[in-house]
Amino acid sequence: MSMRSIWRPIARSATSARLSRHIVPRSPARATSPRGVSAFFSTAGQRMLKDQPDPDLNNDEFQAYLDGNAAWAQSVTDKDPNFFTESAKAQYPTVLWIGCGDSRVPETTLLGLKPGDVFVHRNIANILHPSDLSSLSVIEFSVKYVGVKHVIVCGHTQCGGLIASMKNDRVGLIDSWLTPVRALRCKHADELDSLDTMDAKTKRLAELNVQNSLEVLKTNPIIIDAMRDRGLQIHGVVYNLATGKLEPLETGESQEDFKKRIAAFETK
Ligand SMILES: [Zn+2]
Repeated sequence: MSMRSIWRPIARSATSARLSRHIVPRSPARATSPRGVSAFFSTAGQRMLKDQPDPDLNNDEFQAYLDGNAAWAQSVTDKDPNFFTESAKAQYPTVLWIGCGDSRVPETTLLGLKPGDVFVHRNIANILHPSDLSSLSVIEFSVKYVGVKHVIVCGHTQCGGLIASMKNDRVGLIDSWLTPVRALRCKHADELDSLDTMDAKTKRLAELNVQNSLEVLKTNPIIIDAMRDRGLQIHGVVYNLATGKLEPLETGESQEDFKKRIAAFETK
């Protein structure tokens, strides 16, 4: 069975079309909000969050999600009657994906894979903080106990978190979360200022942010152990929303930098 074939019937299903109708912008605030998700950080986006939608319409939306799930589960079972019974026994993902929570970057879908193939940690702007218990727990579990062979850190174009970091609006708690990105903006100000458009600036910032998260990843003792003992590979990519393609980044380091990193961060 083709892994991709699982998804095709749903993409064209009547339920999917019903869902799509429900998530089409319908309130004046939504209809006029600029550029979708990036508007989350805008005044228009804040007004949107305060809107009180019709409760009945919300129920319709929720029921549509349940209907969509039922149709999807049935279509998977039709193609592979044992899929869910086998899936319920254990998971054997070979990759840990660390990405942004953006709805347009669904890792399993864009990799052409299926449930059970990808262990996932997603947050706003795919940032790794060295002391963030959530990401540290995911890394420990997936690398040490599940035994994934690859870790992919994925940024993406048109990232709302990065766009917010290129502006100076005070948003709230998210500002603290975005601190590492603002530090990159500061460190690479000359290069970013030389770029003409916000799209170009945020795409370059996406690349820098992925590289930065990889640097944090490479200081994690569990990652260091797995790279040394069993050849765990780490990768950096940027997902281009306009093409649907992943663009790999250079993730190598010199022998000199490798020795310095191990000397500073390896623990036993
Ligand atoms: Zn994002």
